[in-house]
Amino acid sequence: MKFDQVVKRFGSNTVLDHLDFSVDRGERVTLIGPSGSGKTTILRLLMTLEKVNDGVIWVDDEPFSHMRTPGGQLRPANEKHLSAIRRKIGMVFQQFNLFPNMRVLQNITEAPIHVLGQDRAKAEARARELLEMVGLGDRADAHPSQLSGGQQQRVAIARALAMDPEILLLDEVTSALDPELVADVLNVLRDVARETDITMLIVTHEMQFARDVSHRVLMFDHGRIVESGPPDQIFGNPTEERTQRFLRAVL
Ligand code: ADP
Repeated sequence: MKFDQVVKRFGSNTVLDHLDFSVDRGERVTLIGPSGSGKTTILRLLMTLEKVNDGVIWVDDEPFSHMRTPGGQLRPANEKHLSAIRRKIGMVFQQFNLFPNMRVLQNITEAPIHVLGQDRAKAEARARELLEMVGLGDRADAHPSQLSGGQQQRVAIARALAMDPEILLLDEVTSALDPELVADVLNVLRDVARETDITMLIVTHEMQFARDVSHRVLMFDHGRIVESGPPDQIFGNPTEERTQRFLRAVL
């Protein structure tokens, strides 16, 4: 996945200013930086919830924010292109966004059946496997309202994985949880990181978690990358004053 000179503006506010970065297949990259530095906007562009103003986003060497004309030129993507490419990407949100009227199992099987066209038995078998993986093998028939926030978030992780995404986006997935529920969710994500080769782009305030699972950390400020490197370097020996100041404030 690659951001190539990406510009994103909201009105006169330039949130991403010719941003360049790439993430390899299987790489886990965490975005850190102060509030308002553009981290969520990057995830929202990948979720196609926002459009770039300039520059191109690529996924698998295919234009993602754009599509090719028969003559090979790039032009802004249409809905059909977006919906095809969107399937490569899974997302877990701060608010778990489960379907409240569906049981846990159905929350997980809904998209595989109705979007991917999987048969029900196969989708349910896979959903049960994923529920085991997130430690909720016995809650398939529960309704979301019967689960704690941490359990709901683990269902949301299973739901995202059920679509077999190439890229998993995690947007502050523990920020809405009571503190005692955070560890279970992070441990599930540590397992996902260990047991799969899904590319992950992570926005989190959990610096120890970022340190444990990331291959690389990007420090953002005002829509620009001020420093990037392996977690041991960024957290242990940051070179930029801006990174040092940010980490002093959050650690
Ligand atoms: P972060 O995730 O690092 O906190 P965001 O990507 O949420 O940063 O926000 C970056 C900037 O973009 C902020 O100045 C924010 O106010 C602005 N912004 C984000 N979304 C919108 C929007 N939908 N409309 C207007 N401004 C927005």
